[in-house]
Amino acid sequence: MIEKIINKKDGSIRNNLLIGARQCPSPNCDERPSDCEPDLIVIHNISLPPNQYGGEGIDQLFTNTLDKDEHPYYADIHHLRVSSHLLIRRDGEVVQYVPFNQRAWHAGISEYQGRDVCNNFSIGIEMEGSDFEVFTEAQYMALEEAIRSLLNTYSSLSATAITGHEHIAPGRKTDPGPFFEWQKLSTMFSEKLPADASCMKKENT
Ligand SMILES: [Zn+2]
Repeated sequence: MIEKIINKKDGSIRNNLLIGARQCPSPNCDERPSDCEPDLIVIHNISLPPNQYGGEGIDQLFTNTLDKDEHPYYADIHHLRVSSHLLIRRDGEVVQYVPFNQRAWHAGISEYQGRDVCNNFSIGIEMEGSDFEVFTEAQYMALEEAIRSLLNTYSSLSATAITGHEHIAPGRKTDPGPFFEWQKLSTMFSEKLPADASCMKKENT
């Protein structure tokens, strides 16, 4: 049961929910393994229908209510059981589908620094967008605010442990894609993020 929250944009987190986010609970989540604290933030992109923005498709996919007849692409994906913790829409609206202490189903087969099943220990943030277009300033501002709230709330998280879906599932996933500005994130948090292309390399040989 999701506790009722005060809809106040103070950017804080209470009961594992981001205050000010629109809550749209997804059934596609479960418990994290015991003693598994989130210590990684994974950035994605998504748009439904592909490359179209502002519709209901993402909410519907994450709540298992996507109508397979509404768009040809939906016939291929309506059966998926997926979710993320947060979605940041083009106008900066933040939507939360899964409480942060729960395991959202966003990463699939994945590996980060020798650990697989990244869903166990990560928080997934979707940016509404595609591999072919820049993200909006409103999105970066909302992303920064959300990540700051997460870092302030969960001591297991770190500004150095922020990566992309493409980096934990190389060859299988391409998001958030070439238009996501890792450099902007590095600057925001005064960190050289490992996913920043200039220093992206395999840790082990
Ligand atoms: Zn993804």
